[in-house]
Parts: sequence; structure tokens; C-alpha cells
Amino acid sequence: KEMILMTPGPTMVPEEVKKVAGAQPLHHRTEEFYELFSNLNKNLKEIFKTKNEVITLTSSGTGGMEAVIANLFSTGDKVLVASIGYFGERFYDIAKAYGLDAELQDFGWGNAVDPNVLEDKLRNGNYKALLVTHNETSTGVTNNVKEIAKIADRYGVAVIVDAVSSLGGIPLEMDEWGIDAVITCSQKCLMSPPGLSFVALSERAWKMAETSNLPKYYFNLKKAREGVLKPNPDTPATPAVSTIMAVAKATNMLLEFGLDNVYKRQATYGKRVREYVKSLGLELLPEEDIASDLITAIKVPEKYKASEIINHMKEKHGVLITGGQGPLKGKIIRIGHMGYVTEEMLTKTLEALKDAIKE
Ligand code: PMP
Repeated sequence: KEMILMTPGPTMVPEEVKKVAGAQPLHHRTEEFYELFSNLNKNLKEIFKTKNEVITLTSSGTGGMEAVIANLFSTGDKVLVASIGYFGERFYDIAKAYGLDAELQDFGWGNAVDPNVLEDKLRNGNYKALLVTHNETSTGVTNNVKEIAKIADRYGVAVIVDAVSSLGGIPLEMDEWGIDAVITCSQKCLMSPPGLSFVALSERAWKMAETSNLPKYYFNLKKAREGVLKPNPDTPATPAVSTIMAVAKATNMLLEFGLDNVYKRQATYGKRVREYVKSLGLELLPEEDIASDLITAIKVPEKYKASEIINHMKEKHGVLITGGQGPLKGKIIRIGHMGYVTEEMLTKTLEALKDAIKE
């Protein structure tokens, strides 16, 4: 029997999407593919809320983050990484690997970015860009990116957002909020198998790309954009065609359901999980006002073992959740509720958690 993945990704894939993903892949230099890719590109612009092109890369989300660093910056560029956990630190590591003058501002695992501290840093720092995670999957915290972008704008600092675990699940308005780069991937809120990352850049970011001196070949965003802009859009190399087919279908479904309805459903799911967890006498990792509606991080009391809760839920109930990463390993468990999650899946998960605690 199929395991229910209540994880931060890969997430559950709807039957209709699985069918498409499992079909014979189209050839990527055919009319059929061009039509499908056009449809996907149109859907992505709607989901990113941008008038700019969205670039499809064959890679996981990390590849999309790397592509943005490699294409927008030059050696020694000064950037601030506002980190609240594992994926903020990953962004910092990538920036360092590419020779940027990156500074890590750690707001603490389980906290959100403090706007006042951030404003002080940006006022005095002379940074070219701010790198920030929208939804920190490792701690179940959502940053207020709208407010963060507003602060950065006051100091002319470009805003780069890792929306790998948030886009298509909670509100993110790229153009409206003045964000310069947004990165996401196929296997989380977009209800598809892994294999693709998606990157959108603002006009200012495309200008930054003109002067970037860092090495890039496979992840050349300018070259990829030329492909997207063709009347018959394509990619510079063979893409993950099956995943493109899947995401085209999944984004059709998502837009048919309506983004606002998705946001509403996610808010309901988030609240329901948090209420239930508290009713079991368990504590959330973050404060409630910054808690993510896409993934819930729960503190594991001394008398329990995270791995035993996870194993019990998996073996006895067929529900897969995850543990903590980095310093939170063994200290928390995380229930993912992003992407394709039905009421039944959620109910089953919460009952499994209750049973695991009791056992
Ligand atoms: N950023 C965030 C916020 C994530 O949740 C993840 C995946 N958990 C990544 C980046 C990395 O994505 P991937 O594993 O697809 O490379």
C-alpha cells in the first residue's frame, strides 16, 4: 500500500499527475512539447505573480539557488544572508562557494527575521543583495517577505527569495512586493515529482546578470531565457521532460482550483495541525504568529524519542513524517502539509501521531 508522504517534499502527487508523469516522455524538439512548455510557462507566471519569464531548470531546488548566485553576482559582491535555519545556511554556503563576500545574520532556528535588526544591518552594510528564505522548512517558520522586501527597498538592496517550500502554497507576490529573484521547485507545493527548479528574475536582476563574472554553463539563465522567449519555447539541453509534463498538469489543476483557495485551505490545515498538536499536550517549536501553514515543527518531550514516533507512524499507520535537521536532529518532528493533501490524509496523520504518543 502507498505510503502517505507528510514530509517537506517530495509530497503526494495526485493520480492525474502521476499518470502524466508515468507516460512516454515527449521529445523535447516537437510541436507537442512546445505547446506543453508554453502552457507551463504561462501557468508559472501566474503562480509567481510576475510579468517576467520564469525559467525552468532541470535540477532540484538547490540548483535553482545556485543558478541565481552564479548568474546575478560577481566575485567579491557583498551580500547579507538573513538565516533562520538550515536552508538559510545553505544559501550562505552557496554564496561562499562562489566567492561572494557573504555575511550570515543568524536570527536563530525557530525564530523569524527580526525587521528592526535587519533594517540596522541594511542601513549600515552597503550590501548588493539580501538572501532570505520565505518558508524555513527546517523549523516550520514563515518569514514576512513582504515586509522584508519593503525594508530592503529603502536601501536599494536587491531581494533574493528561496521560495522552494512556499510558492503555490502561501501568498507570494513577486512583482507587487518588489522581489528580484524567486526560486521554487517541482516536488513541494506544486504537487509533482522532483526534477525541476523554477527561477524568476526582476528587470533589475536581469541587469545584474549582464555584469556577472562568475562561471556558468549548464545554469546559464540568459541562455535559458532565450529558449523561453522563442515562439516555440524550448530549453538549451534535454530537460526532465516527464516532470515538465507533470508540472504542466499539476499547475493547470492548481490554477483551476484557484490560488486564493489554496491559500485558504493551507491556512485551515496549518491551524488544524497546530490545535491538534497542542491538544495532545505537545509544544510547537516556533511562536504561533510565525508558524508555517505548510509544515509544522513539534518539540519532542524528553520522555519520547523522535525516531520512535516517526517509525511508529510509518510502520503502524503508513504515514511518513520527518525529524529535525542540523542542531534540531532528535529534538523535533516535522509534519509536512503542503501540496496535494486531502482532509483524509491529514486526519490519518493526526490520528497516527496521537497513537504514536500513546504507545
Ligand atoms: N530551500 C528550502 C526552503 C527547502 O525546503 C529545500 C528542500 N527541503 C531546499 C531549499 C532544497 O531543495 P532541494 O532539496 O530540492 O534541492
